[in-house]
Amino acid sequence: MASDDKTFWQCDEVGEEAALERAPTGISTVSPRMRIGGRRTIPGGQAVVETLETEGVRECDAWRCAILGPGASGRLGSKKPGILGRGGSGVSLSEQKGTVARRLLVVVAHPDDAEFTVAGSVALWAREGHHIWYVICTDGSRGTSDPKLTPQELSAIRAEEQRAAARMLGVQEVAFLGYVDGSLEPSIDLRRDLTRMIRRHRPDVLICQDPTVRWSGQEYINHPDHIAAGEASLAAVFPAARDRLAFPELLVEGLEPHKVAEVYVTGSREPDLWVDISSAIDLKIRALKEHRSQVDETNLEQRIREWARRAAQGREGLEYAESFKYFRLR
Ligand SMILES: [Zn+2]
Repeated sequence: MASDDKTFWQCDEVGEEAALERAPTGISTVSPRMRIGGRRTIPGGQAVVETLETEGVRECDAWRCAILGPGASGRLGSKKPGILGRGGSGVSLSEQKGTVARRLLVVVAHPDDAEFTVAGSVALWAREGHHIWYVICTDGSRGTSDPKLTPQELSAIRAEEQRAAARMLGVQEVAFLGYVDGSLEPSIDLRRDLTRMIRRHRPDVLICQDPTVRWSGQEYINHPDHIAAGEASLAAVFPAARDRLAFPELLVEGLEPHKVAEVYVTGSREPDLWVDISSAIDLKIRALKEHRSQVDETNLEQRIREWARRAAQGREGLEYAESFKYFRLR
């Protein structure tokens, strides 16, 4: 993206405060439309952060986000939020804090990872008025077999695709950390950058990839970047974001320690929390289609529905789900 692109403004500290003012913490005070997009570089880091022009918070006419724990059963589509059935370990985001909007940070390796893994839940949470930020660790510069595309061109295309998808889902901001695609490591630098993002956004909930999954079945070898992003995310949540003396340079930047309350890990072999995305699966598919350089639209819809159906398997009353390994840390 060119720096003279008029859609975005280079943001300094004042601009950042202004952006935060546009992202108030209570549902009732959320403006119906975020008017201004922005771009800024975070002090002390290489991250480029872009505030999206979104439709803002949409009214939710009924409770549609059911989160079920192990052995849970119950009627879905209830207008009341809550745990459905006995034995549920998951609690709806809304129920936990009444009508107070919560803060969610989604950390993934590549542009498109969030849409594949968590877009249905993100769409629901945005609809409920929660504040959602994306952090994309790599520049996505390797994901093509087109010999005519340079890494720089591909990276710019994928950033634009990611912005479009995030905007559609109601995500408020996308940060691109800019690590080279395919070479991501769970390094101390990455941990520091993610700790910086956590301390800056102070999320209640962090959503990340599973660092323990190397393969699945006979057809899937996990991308090493996903593992690295997941490992660094968990290490940033605990203990780095919490510990005052971890990364003292962040204190110098004015970033105080922060305890993340909950973690949702995507792609886990041992999920224990399910989100009913039946009312959001169409939007998830549309958001995925924004990643034109990555997805083959042939069978995409069928494939996503099949995955979501498989994730919901065995959960009574669920048709489409996204599943997570869930942690409550405080
Ligand atoms: Zn990926």
